[in-house]
Amino acid sequence: MHVHRATMALNAKCLGVQMTGQLETDDGQTSTNTVDEGELIDEIERIVRQTKKAYGYQHLSAIGTGLRVRYPDFSPKQYGYKKLLDLIEAHPDRFKIKWSAPAHKGKSHVWVRLATEPKRKEGYATSSPDKAKPKQKPRLMMAQEFARLCEWLEGPKGCNFRTDPNSPDGMTWTCDGSLRKTKQWLRRRPFLSIDGNVKQIKHLDGYCDCEVLFNAVGDWPQD
Ligand SMILES: [Zn+2]
Repeated sequence: MHVHRATMALNAKCLGVQMTGQLETDDGQTSTNTVDEGELIDEIERIVRQTKKAYGYQHLSAIGTGLRVRYPDFSPKQYGYKKLLDLIEAHPDRFKIKWSAPAHKGKSHVWVRLATEPKRKEGYATSSPDKAKPKQKPRLMMAQEFARLCEWLEGPKGCNFRTDPNSPDGMTWTCDGSLRKTKQWLRRRPFLSIDGNVKQIKHLDGYCDCEVLFNAVGDWPQD
């Protein structure tokens, strides 16, 4: 095992607990109908492409409606976001957002267009998603995404950091000495490269899931 540049709890121990391969989602939902975030983002793109509005803007509420047609149980909370807008904002490489001045008092409008296509008055060059969909190469996490990974790793589905009942001022957590949980989180986001991100994490001395929190946190390159 590797030396922890421990900042959290010096008297904590890395338990070599093997965890069973239970199917679970990042956010503790029962996983039955939840599509992964990558697929969801592709569906949002498809809905945005259907717009007839100038410059390819689609209304946020139309996106919400479209998602619920396809995924009746859809809720942004399943993906760890409070609102649909937060989810879309988390993918600035895919979507651009514009707020328009409220036409009526108290009613603001949020418009979304594809960041992957040039801004043209007539909208998108082609409405055929097959041809138009740029199959983007899986990429590195952005700082915000890395922060979300860390948050998840701290929690019960990750390393489950908790106070150690045998030593009231100590912490304990679960880590099998590999990046298994980190890879699991990445695998659910096909727009993120597993190899590339793992390489970057190791470069920051994160050789196992808990070391992502001990060593890599705070050092992720800013966008
Ligand atoms: Zn560890």
